[in-house]
Amino acid sequence: MDFDFTEKEQAFRAEVKQFIADNLPPPEQRGEDFEKHWHAKLIEKKWIGFSWPKEYGGGGGTLIEQFILKEEMSKALAPDLGSDFMGLTWVGPALIRHGTEEQKKEFLPDLLNCRSSWCTGYSEPDVGSDLGSLKLRAVRDGDDYVINGSKIWTTRAHVARYIFLTVRTNPEAQSRYSGISVLLTPMNTPGIEVRPIVNIVGQHHFNQVFFTDVRVPVSARLGAEGEGWKVVMGALANERSGISESTGMERHLEKLKELARNSQKGGKPALQDAEVRRKLARFETQISAMRLNGLRNLTKQIKGAQPSSETSVNKLLRGILEIPMADLAMSLLGNEASGMGEWQFDALNFHGTVIGGGSPNIQRNIIAERVLGLPKD
Ligand SMILES: Cc1cc2nc3c(=O)[nH]c(=O)nc-3n(C[C@H](O)[C@H](O)[C@H](O)COP(=O)(O)OP(=O)(O)OC[C@H]3O[C@@H](n4cnc5c(N)ncnc54)[C@H](O)[C@@H]3O)c2cc1C
Repeated sequence: MDFDFTEKEQAFRAEVKQFIADNLPPPEQRGEDFEKHWHAKLIEKKWIGFSWPKEYGGGGGTLIEQFILKEEMSKALAPDLGSDFMGLTWVGPALIRHGTEEQKKEFLPDLLNCRSSWCTGYSEPDVGSDLGSLKLRAVRDGDDYVINGSKIWTTRAHVARYIFLTVRTNPEAQSRYSGISVLLTPMNTPGIEVRPIVNIVGQHHFNQVFFTDVRVPVSARLGAEGEGWKVVMGALANERSGISESTGMERHLEKLKELARNSQKGGKPALQDAEVRRKLARFETQISAMRLNGLRNLTKQIKGAQPSSETSVNKLLRGILEIPMADLAMSLLGNEASGMGEWQFDALNFHGTVIGGGSPNIQRNIIAERVLGLPKD
């Protein structure tokens, strides 16, 4: 196994570092308009969607170069590459793989130019982990589908322009997985109503979305009718790999070490305490494993495979790590833990984020059945 980067990749890393040194101010010096100007520079470099094919407006970079780009940006505490995480992480790749030429022309440029905002409609009031039993009904009527039903936990539905929407087009299909389709639906279509759901930390990210006789043209369908499950499986693999990139966890760990450095335990700096050191070392080891696992997944993709069930390994690792990391931070904060700072927020919020994209139990099932080949439960 060769862990070294090629000369070309090392030169690219140097280019990214130089760009950051020339253009990225430290976080405390970033003004209100900073992200707009920063994104304009990234668009010019074609570093948003850097590994997407040039024919669709992407940068034509390799997957390893994109990994290097993200790694350096994360180390420098840069904002995300692009303004639409869902759009860039799973909607765009699904469009490139399954979209018609018209759909690619309509949606991809906006994704790459920070003009898009997507949300994702999978979960329903009675459907979460068991996504294959989704019920939102779309009935064909001439050149349209007419949609009735509801989605829930739809992150950013209140600000999104489009929803990546799973619907049931054929309730009588032989298998429940074969009657599902994906519709690329504008959120301003008449008949869509978005109602906010406020989370445990008092923020409004989720929504319930109601569909009443919503008409969407057949041309908005992504992939063939009834073959949406295939589209969704690919999108979920990309979602899980995007959510669980090790760079985000490396940032958390650095913050945690900083907190330990500045906290006291038993009358001495917490960083000198054996138990704290053991916990930090365990986190660091698992995050290093995530990074290597991410590179292993990339290697598979470079050889032509699509991201698949193996992305559940890092998603699970992230789920296992986040809550204990926040718990350690809370114990280091001592009396201050009753306030409402960044770590207190994380300690409450992580219980939700580990579920988004599929709960840890579901990742365990996927790893057992589809990666290790164990019998179904
Ligand atoms: C932060 C966050 C963001 C989200 N954003 C979106 C979004 O944008 N769009 C969207 O569509 N959805 C979104 N969701 C919903 C999310 O996908 C679901 O919450 C998740 O799939 C679990 O479904 P559920 O809540 O219905 O729980 P359930 O499926 O009812 O599961 C309840 C419990 O049972 C366990 N369980 C269920 N089935 C099994 C099994 N077969 N084996 C072992 N254990 C099992 C689960 O692990 C869980 O602990 C979001 C959720 C969160 C928390």
